[in-house]
Amino acid sequence: MIGFDLSEEQEQLIKTARDFTKAKIVPVAGKLDEHGTFPTEIFKEAWELGLANCEIPTEYGGLGLSCLDHCLVLEEVSYGCLGVNTTLAANMLGSMPLLIAGSDEQKQKYLGMLVNEPVHAAYCCSEPDAGSDVAGMSTKYTQHGDDYVISGQKRWITNGGVANWFTVLATRDRGMKHKGITCFVVDANAPGVKIGKKEDKLGQRCSNTCDVLFEEVRVPKSAIVGAEGEGFKVAMKTFDRSRPWIAAGAAGVMRRAIEESRSYALERKTFGVPIAQHQAIQFMLADMAVKYEASRLLCHKAAYMVDKGHIDSVISAYAKVFSADSAMEVTTDAVQVFGGYGYTKEYPVEKLMRDAKLLQIYEGTSQIQRIVIARNMLGRQ
Ligand SMILES: Cc1cc2nc3c(=O)[nH]c(=O)nc-3n(C[C@H](O)[C@H](O)[C@H](O)COP(=O)(O)OP(=O)(O)OC[C@H]3O[C@@H](n4cnc5c(N)ncnc54)[C@H](O)[C@@H]3O)c2cc1C
Repeated sequence: MIGFDLSEEQEQLIKTARDFTKAKIVPVAGKLDEHGTFPTEIFKEAWELGLANCEIPTEYGGLGLSCLDHCLVLEEVSYGCLGVNTTLAANMLGSMPLLIAGSDEQKQKYLGMLVNEPVHAAYCCSEPDAGSDVAGMSTKYTQHGDDYVISGQKRWITNGGVANWFTVLATRDRGMKHKGITCFVVDANAPGVKIGKKEDKLGQRCSNTCDVLFEEVRVPKSAIVGAEGEGFKVAMKTFDRSRPWIAAGAAGVMRRAIEESRSYALERKTFGVPIAQHQAIQFMLADMAVKYEASRLLCHKAAYMVDKGHIDSVISAYAKVFSADSAMEVTTDAVQVFGGYGYTKEYPVEKLMRDAKLLQIYEGTSQIQRIVIARNMLGRQ
C-alpha cells in the first residue's frame, strides 16, 4: 500500500512551523543575512515551540519525532531562511552519531543538554585538507593509559563557535584510511578546544561556520562514540540520515522562490501585459513547480526509509542531489523572473539563490552524491 497523506499531527506540526516562520523568520531574514547575525532569539523561540532537536527520543527528554516529521519542520523553516534551517539541523547533525552509536550515559548527558536548554551541538568531520575525502582526515588521536588525546583542526563547522559540545572524528593513523577513524564526543570547554576563524559566507550568512581546533585535548575512554575504529561507519550512517534534511531545506527554499516569482509575474508588466502571460515565464514557473514537487517526494521517500529502518544510502543520495541541484536551478530562475530587480537586495530572491548554493556543497557535494549512486550501479571502478 502507498499513501501520500500526512497525519493530523503532521499537519498540525506543519502549521506550527509555518506560522512561526511567517511571524518570526521571514520579517528578519534579510537583516540577519546582511549583518551575518546568528539567530539566537529565533533559535530560542523555536526550541521553546518544539521545533529544535526534533529527533531526540522521548527517553532522553526529546520529542521523538520521526525523520519525516523533522523534514516537514525543516521545509517550513527553510521557506523563511535556509541559514536558520542549517542552525537547527546542525544540532541534530551533531547528535546523530550519539543516536546511532552512543552509550546510554553519553545520550543522557549530551542530548540532555540540548533538551534542557536552548544550546547547540556541532559535528566536526571536515578539515582544511579533507572535505569530500573523509577517510583522508588528519586530526589525530593517541591513547595515553585510559585517556585519549585529540589534536587537529576542523573546518567549516556549523555552530562551531556557539556549540556546547562536539562530535569529532579523528584518526589513529592516517595511513589506515577509514579503518583508523574513531568518533568522540567532546565538551566545548575541555582544555585545548579553541574556536578558530569564522567564515564570511556567500549565503546562509546567519548560520555560524567556524574552524574548531583541538590542541592536545584529553578525553576519557568513555568519550568514544561506538567502538574504536568504527568512526567512518558512524559518519556515513550519519549522512544517510541527515541527507533527507538537506532535501527538506531545498524544498522550502524552492517553495519560497516559486511563491515570490508567481506574485511578481502576475504584477510586473512588459509590452502591456503581466509577464505571467508570456509563455517563456509560464514554462519557467511550471518547471520550478515540477522540481519542487519531485524534490519533496524524494525527500519524503528518503525520510520514510529512515523511519522504517530500511536506511538506503542511495535513496538519501537521490534526494540530496536532486533537490540541491533543483533548488539552485529554481532560485536562479526566480532571479530571472524578476529580471534586473532580482539581482538587487530590494527583493528576496537573490538571497534565496545565494543560500541555495550551499545545498550542493555541504553534507557531501553533488558530485559525491553521484559517486554514491554510480558506485551502487556499477560497483567500485
Ligand atoms: C557553510 C558550510 C557549512 C558546513 N558545515 C559542516 C559541518 O557542520 N560539519 C562538517 O564536518 N563539515 C561541514 N561543512 C563541510 C562540507 O561538508 C565540505 O565543504 C564538503 O564536504 C566539501 O569538501 P571541501 O570543501 O573540502 O571540497 P573538496 O572535497 O576539496 O571538493 C572540491 C570540489 O571537488 C569535487 N570533488 C572532490 N572529490 C571528488 C571526486 N572523487 N570526484 C569528483 N569530484 C570530486 C567536489 O565535489 C567539489 O566540487 C560545511 C561546509 C560549508 C561551506
